[in-house]
Amino acid sequence: MGQQLNKIIKRKRRAAYLKRKKVAAKAAGQRGLVLPIVSAISAMIIEKAQARDEYLEARGATVPIPRCPICTLELAYPFREAGMHPECASESV
Ligand SMILES: [Zn+2]
Repeated sequence: MGQQLNKIIKRKRRAAYLKRKKVAAKAAGQRGLVLPIVSAISAMIIEKAQARDEYLEARGATVPIPRCPICTLELAYPFREAGMHPECASESV
């Protein structure tokens, strides 16, 4: 069940990433801009993300990463003790 959940999470992350990329490309297109950096980064990130997923899957990872209760994004290691992002904490007061 954990692995299935991981797969669902990965799929959602990828879909969210592709959606952001599409929005950026569309906004640029409407302004007559080409986004070579976005295109280049996008191509690289997809490869890196797939490699990361394969690596994690091969190792039988992973425990769920704690999420920020305010923005719901994953918490990077330094923020886990506080339990939320500093900027989210300051917005919530
Ligand atoms: Zn947050």
